Amino acid sequence: MSRIIDGKLVSAKVRANVAKETEELKEKGVSVGLAVVIVGNDPASRVYVNNKKKACAEVGFISREYALPEETTQQELLDLVNELNNDKEINGILVQLPLPKHLDEKQVIEAISPLKDVDAFNAVNVGKIMIGDYDFLPCTPAGVMEMLKEYDIDPKSKNCVVIGRSNIVGKPMAMLLLHKHGTVTICHSRTVNLKEICAKADILVAAIGKAKFVTADMVKEGAVVIDVGMNRDENGKLCGDVDFENVKDKAEAITPVPGGVGPMTIAMLMKNTLKAAKLQNGIEE
Ligand code: NAP
Repeated sequence: MSRIIDGKLVSAKVRANVAKETEELKEKGVSVGLAVVIVGNDPASRVYVNNKKKACAEVGFISREYALPEETTQQELLDLVNELNNDKEINGILVQLPLPKHLDEKQVIEAISPLKDVDAFNAVNVGKIMIGDYDFLPCTPAGVMEMLKEYDIDPKSKNCVVIGRSNIVGKPMAMLLLHKHGTVTICHSRTVNLKEICAKADILVAAIGKAKFVTADMVKEGAVVIDVGMNRDENGKLCGDVDFENVKDKAEAITPVPGGVGPMTIAMLMKNTLKAAKLQNGIEE
């Protein structure tokens, strides 16, 4: 029987710690503020933004939402980011992606002050992660590392395979496993022999975006399987990139979807925002 890695449990622990520290900061007269910017009417983005606002309220942060109309111009968005960069009450800025097609995401991300870039998407923060000297980690891969730690799974000397090479999940995920001394292979859509490579993984991370893509024959007996995917199956039910039902008995430990990586992402956003507030107020960790 495999261990089910419970993201709800681990994320609740992270959020409880953030809430406790936020309370302690308040006693010192320091508040923690997150600004969430959403442009347009994408329903999935609306759900994510509402969840982030709810999480802020739970941990005691000030949260401000800027809901901008679809026709917002690049300059208007950059002006808002700049205003928030200079706003003392705001410690973290999150621009919900994807932005409408006419807006340049890269330019907007680069406009966020690296000190307030709690998503860690800005090139300065990405570079810092590369050299292993960082303040913020991107929330989803950081959430995976937190779960591994909580379940005493040490990547050191393990064969780690990450499927997916996106800037927000796959690449930083691989880098964090490398920092923890894993031997890391990154796979993508042009990888040859994907099945064979995956079947050698001690820790397999799937960040593909294809429902039930990772089947039991791709998983080594006793592997740790981390499913980052968030997809809908043929019945419209939320599912991951891993064929959970058939993989779970082969894996030593596995994350479910929902209830695995998903809840960790927002918890790590809260952790990053708290850290931003501390850094901006000269408070040691
Ligand atoms: P993405 O930018 O679309 O990247 C997907 C990656 O999968 C790409 O690198 C792609 O390779 C690779 N890929 C696609 N088809 C493949 C195949 N047949 N074989 C091998 N590799 C293949 O997606 P993402 O933003 O990283 O997100 C991945 C998944 O995680 C999605 O389901 C997303 O919803 C989910 N997600 C969840 C959370 C969370 O909080 N739980 C957060 C972020 C994302 P190429 O580079 O060659 O195209």
